[in-house]
Amino acid sequence: MCEITTHVCCPHCQDTNIKKNGRKATGKQNFLCRACHKQFQIEYAYRGANPKVKELVLRMALYGSGIRDTGNVLDLYPSSVLRMLRKHAKKIKEPDFQGHYEEVEVDEFWSFVRCRKKCKRWCWYAYDPQSRKILAFHIGRRNTSACRALYKKLTGLDIDCFFTDDYKAYSKVFPAEKHYVGKEYTTHIERRNRDFRTHLKRLARRTVCHSKSDEMHYLFIKMYINHRNIA
Ligand SMILES: [Zn+2]
Repeated sequence: MCEITTHVCCPHCQDTNIKKNGRKATGKQNFLCRACHKQFQIEYAYRGANPKVKELVLRMALYGSGIRDTGNVLDLYPSSVLRMLRKHAKKIKEPDFQGHYEEVEVDEFWSFVRCRKKCKRWCWYAYDPQSRKILAFHIGRRNTSACRALYKKLTGLDIDCFFTDDYKAYSKVFPAEKHYVGKEYTTHIERRNRDFRTHLKRLARRTVCHSKSDEMHYLFIKMYINHRNIA
């Protein structure tokens, strides 16, 4: 007779200090990690409950896959993929930085929810090229009040200069002594615009993918910004 021993490690924290913790309603053995106190199973009756699958769903969403692509690759229903991403994104907070920044670039790019022609949404954001962080963002229309909403999110920060293009809302909102206008000043943030469209499929041009609700549009952009800021 031969005996096979398998070592179980926690999928959340990789610790090996594990104990058995009863059986789930599906009959599968449940485990508890003594280090992080999270429960897990070795075999999941439902694939979407597996933390490793959840991690893949998240990574695919942030590296250019649409909801259906992810569902097809990982063998999950699109509705399950969307539910997982919504749950994850809701827990993420908007950027909350403090401190001093010398040169902050501000720009806006458009996308849409439901209808390309009638429902344009503008994502306004402020980027610090030195730390490579997105300091704040606001999704709204392309007007002065949306620009002001972004500026309000930056008022807690000590910023020396703002660089923008010549869109008129900027000169109405940003203090003239700190505001510099010119395409040559916004090269870093222009590259970030391209990253958004490359990595979030719903923002990519000429695809069938787009957001069906403002809620998911906001959640995906927030999730992506958080991902970039911690990278
Ligand atoms: Zn653990």
